[in-house]
Amino acid sequence: MKVLILSPHTDDAELGCGGSIFKFLNRGDDIYWIVFSTAEDSLPKNLPKNTLREEFIRVVQSLNLSSDNYSICNFKVRYLHEHRQKILDKLIEVRISFNPDLVIGPSVNDFHQDHQIVANEMIRAFKTTSSIISYELPWNHVTFNTQLFIKLNNEHISKKCSLLRNYQSQFLKNRLYFSKEYIYGIGTTRGIQCNSKYAEAFEVVRWMI
Ligand SMILES: [Zn+2]
Repeated sequence: MKVLILSPHTDDAELGCGGSIFKFLNRGDDIYWIVFSTAEDSLPKNLPKNTLREEFIRVVQSLNLSSDNYSICNFKVRYLHEHRQKILDKLIEVRISFNPDLVIGPSVNDFHQDHQIVANEMIRAFKTTSSIISYELPWNHVTFNTQLFIKLNNEHISKKCSLLRNYQSQFLKNRLYFSKEYIYGIGTTRGIQCNSKYAEAFEVVRWMI
């Protein structure tokens, strides 16, 4: 299966579906991953501008992905709305070159302004060609429909934590959703809903068989 992962910023996809990405890779699926912003303006002032980019590259390297498997754009954080058409053009380019079976991106119920842009353009670009599901980032949602579960085992959830540990800049900002307690907590909660030790939950936008 060919899986396209969409991250408005570095770290969104790892937080929302890091265990599933690892599971897909383990079973031999083909992954292409697009990051739209390296959020240079959200970094603590003392850190170099390329910090999040470098942290993301450590993530993809630890998954044994090559530069053919990802693309990093550098749109300004919180200003993706000014680049909506360029984002759609990029998605259409990847739809033609990669032709994914499944697209995973943010939810239309996600209230982060950049996430909303990527969610909308994702649906605009892939609504007639691919299955589309949206990952869960609870701090950004008022509602989230847990319509699809990807079951995870100990190895998957542990790898999700180790992927997130690459984002030391976010630990400096005390982001609690990077903590092991949160990752295991939400993983267990979603697992209980689908009779699995752990899971990640998704909204279904389109499902094509
Ligand atoms: Zn984000």
